[in-house]
Amino acid sequence: MTLAVPAIPAHHAADFPRRDRQALLRIENLVVEYHVHGNIVHAVSGVSLEVLPGETLGLVGESGCGKSTLGRAVLQLVRPTSGRVLFEGKDLAEMRGGPLRLLRRRLQLIFQDPIASLNPRRRIGDIVAEPLIIAGIGKAERQRRVREVLGAVGLDPDLTMGRLPHEFSGGQCQRISIARALVLEPQLLICDEPVSALDVLIRAQILNLIETMKARYGLTLLFIAHDLAVVKAVSDRVAVMYLGKIVEVGATQALFRFPAHPYTSVLLEAIPLPDPSIAPPENVPVGEPPSPIAPPSGCRFRTRCPRATELCAAEEPPLRELAPGRFVACHYPLIATPDPLIATPAPCDASAAGAKEADRTRATQ
Ligand code: ADP
Repeated sequence: MTLAVPAIPAHHAADFPRRDRQALLRIENLVVEYHVHGNIVHAVSGVSLEVLPGETLGLVGESGCGKSTLGRAVLQLVRPTSGRVLFEGKDLAEMRGGPLRLLRRRLQLIFQDPIASLNPRRRIGDIVAEPLIIAGIGKAERQRRVREVLGAVGLDPDLTMGRLPHEFSGGQCQRISIARALVLEPQLLICDEPVSALDVLIRAQILNLIETMKARYGLTLLFIAHDLAVVKAVSDRVAVMYLGKIVEVGATQALFRFPAHPYTSVLLEAIPLPDPSIAPPENVPVGEPPSPIAPPSGCRFRTRCPRATELCAAEEPPLRELAPGRFVACHYPLIATPDPLIATPAPCDASAAGAKEADRTRATQ
């Protein structure tokens, strides 16, 4: 096998993706380890990422690669082993008690399983009002805000507030979860697999709702999913995660068209094709991902990578900038030379928004 040797100068190496705008969320060298029966699970291993105001950053990777742990560590629901989580410049990882709770109101999370995430014994009006009660908002204002946000997510407050979660479908429960997350008008919404548990026909409705809420409330989104088609449909930029590490970051359309990391490429090839007469991809990675208890030396993807050499076992490739806004952690990236086509357009640019809308429909067919 001959490998194209990348012609990228060493000074392009970078710790994390830098952009010209001030990041709303900046994750620096984040490490999360779980201690289980004497073993250490390396769930997140030195991740650095930025989320810019107003953008949707998609985080994608196989199940178990550390996406949820990363999302929860941002909110400090899982305490990081090391690293920093800067929200508007303040390090959440250093904060405790009241100040952390106060800042965390501006970052909210929606979960994969909407039904399980709602307390079955509480009425919807109380579930959505709960964050307002904790924030000390008075009754009349609470009522007004709950009604407003339920209406915004497409539910009739009069028919919803007095009922219990089991009286609603999965899609309606996800609408309620979104309402609860938005009632305090956060700036950053972390969506952790928000449509994975829903019927395929409902997915497009919820993805469209998230997009509408993003515009209405001026949100910034970190959108976590294992399904690439879903991530493509909502994201301005995408970060690809493998076994606790970020292996590639770039603008969505460019990354999907010209993947630079072999793992991104095989993930893209693994998207099921609707036409059974088309041959399956040849380039699929071999076997299961290695255990995060004993990750491989060097590049963690090397044990499944068709391009791996001895260098990949000996040296961990840093996340380096191939072209403006395009970062890859690979000794042998699939794109050898910086190309304007793989550069990152401004987040929320109009043509990207049109492409996302078409992808939302396709992702759920
Ligand atoms: P993903 O969201 O990509 O599916 P997770 O963040 O849920 O990945 O998990 C990453 C790794 O950490 C997996 O190996 C998982 O088994 C492990 N893990 C997650 N939560 C815990 C926990 N509370 N205790 C121990 N191991 C955990």
